[in-house]
Amino acid sequence: MSPDFKKKPAILGGVPAFRALLPITRPTLPLPAPLLSKVKKSLKSGMITNGHYVCQFEEKIKKYLKVKHVVAVNNCTSGLMMVLKVLNIKGKVLVPSFTFCATGHAIVWAGLEPVFLECDPHTLTLDPGHIRKRLGPDVGAVLAVHMFGNPANVDELQSLVRKRKTRLIFDSAHAFGSRFRQAYVGTFGDAEVFSLSPTKLLTAGEGGIIATNQDALAEKLRWARNYGNPGNYDCVFEGLSARMSEFNAALGLEALPSLEKNVKNRNVLAKHYQDCLQGTPGIGFQKVSRENRSTYKDFCILVDEKEFGLTRDCLHGALDAENIQCRQYFNPPLHQLNVYKNRYETVPLGLPVTEWASQHVLSLPLYSHMTRTEVEKICRVIKRIHYWCYKIHDIKRDRQ
Ligand SMILES: *Cc1c(COP(=O)(O)O)cnc(C)c1O
Repeated sequence: MSPDFKKKPAILGGVPAFRALLPITRPTLPLPAPLLSKVKKSLKSGMITNGHYVCQFEEKIKKYLKVKHVVAVNNCTSGLMMVLKVLNIKGKVLVPSFTFCATGHAIVWAGLEPVFLECDPHTLTLDPGHIRKRLGPDVGAVLAVHMFGNPANVDELQSLVRKRKTRLIFDSAHAFGSRFRQAYVGTFGDAEVFSLSPTKLLTAGEGGIIATNQDALAEKLRWARNYGNPGNYDCVFEGLSARMSEFNAALGLEALPSLEKNVKNRNVLAKHYQDCLQGTPGIGFQKVSRENRSTYKDFCILVDEKEFGLTRDCLHGALDAENIQCRQYFNPPLHQLNVYKNRYETVPLGLPVTEWASQHVLSLPLYSHMTRTEVEKICRVIKRIHYWCYKIHDIKRDRQ
């Protein structure tokens, strides 16, 4: 027995592993000086919107992703709304229930009806088997998600929609820097939409990026972010006011050169988490195919209470007591959110895998500049909590 295990977990009255809160994530930000010089230039020019930083940012991203068009917008949610609107989709939109609320909100704001589909229990991305079963003349689009940066089953999704007139869109909020085989996420389907909010790898403060290889779609998206104005103020559809500001683009430009390094760091740290937790009973991991690269926007574990000795919720509470901030992404899943429950079709009925995932997945702290020592410490704490689990059961029973 490692002497470390003798120490009591904080939930049983021991000293918390971290004196100050270790947050689930922290943005990795560029140095202030070059950013401030860009901001100064922008102020001096008087062009604080529709200036050249947004154009420059779009060009750089186009080169990085190797995609034909990049349209910078104010966030990912409005980006998804505009793509759904501009593609003029008729019919329902197939979407995973296991995702962030914004994926569903974008569909409803675009005036469309979601159908919530099952995810795969290992990859946590949309299960193509259920898409195959549900696709039909009443379906206008599939909106897939690269969950936690793990690329969706792109090949199978593309071949499924190709045979029909169904559109394929990706909520790529987590996946700036992910690769499906050799190609960067951002080059697939009709369009992919990234988020640049501070919890994502590449941040511009706030912001979104739409990537597409389609000329006509890109042009309309440029109108869409500018009220639907094609240039002569004679609006051709009801667009949004959804431009990216020059300040946000300047931050994005400064952050972009570190992205590759950050993705690599996260892959090293995720591997380290897995190595350190290997052999801990009841702890599983999201499956990322060897051919692909995940950004690990989040690193999650799957907790099997029978083997681990505690439920996911119980482990979450015990880690909270240690000042280790975790998140139950995504609990509740979309079809159980107050706003959506009992209102939309689910395929299959009740979504058993999604409900299982939302009860068993726990995201642990991970950020691009986190240290290996922090990862090791968290893993030791998880093992210690497992060692003491029978006692933790007792205090639960006493409290009831
Ligand atoms: C963060 C996130 C969004 C929303 O991104 P914003 O840029 O904040 O609009 C959408 N979908 C998923 C899966 C996300 O995690």
